[in-house]
Amino acid sequence: MKILLHICCGPCAIFPLRVLRDQGHDLTGVFYNPNIHPLQEYLRRRDGVRETAERFGLKMIFLDQEYDPQVYMRQLAFRENSRCLLCYQLRLERTLSIARRGKFEGFSSTLLYSKQQQHKSIAKLGYDLAGEGKVVFVYQDFRVGWQEGIRQSLEWSLYRQDYCGCLYSEFERFRGCLQQATEKRRPESQS
Ligand code: SF4
Repeated sequence: MKILLHICCGPCAIFPLRVLRDQGHDLTGVFYNPNIHPLQEYLRRRDGVRETAERFGLKMIFLDQEYDPQVYMRQLAFRENSRCLLCYQLRLERTLSIARRGKFEGFSSTLLYSKQQQHKSIAKLGYDLAGEGKVVFVYQDFRVGWQEGIRQSLEWSLYRQDYCGCLYSEFERFRGCLQQATEKRRPESQS
């Protein structure tokens, strides 16, 4: 099957690429992730995907010209509590639209590899978006390769991010630092 694979980052792509290749699919990757903040982080992840794609000899579409944080912000404005679903939707819809125009037979996402993501919601969204159309959603539970992806990415010294991507996830990941810094400063400010 000719499949367009949405890729979120290099480490998450390794296992799905191995599986889909072993199954004999004709793969093209697309890097469309306007959720990633800030721009420097986006570029680090994009370069990690480029490196991974080169290792696999994978055809890639990089939508750098469409990287605009406002697109992501508008997508979830005032609906931040549902931000992950809206974020998945933004990226999968764009992937599907390219797949339809490019006459792909199927589309999928490396988001299905991550144990940190809402796996069932991504699968449901993919099926819902595909509907009865010609381009089908290719679902596989890539989470079974979680350890293999980690091991291989470390061996290749691939860039591994430490937060999901958006401003909110960065804050949630590091807000402990803010607390620690506040506690460290407290004795001085009291003296
Ligand atoms: S936490 Fe991750 S999936 Fe959820 S909105 Fe942020 S970048 Fe998107």
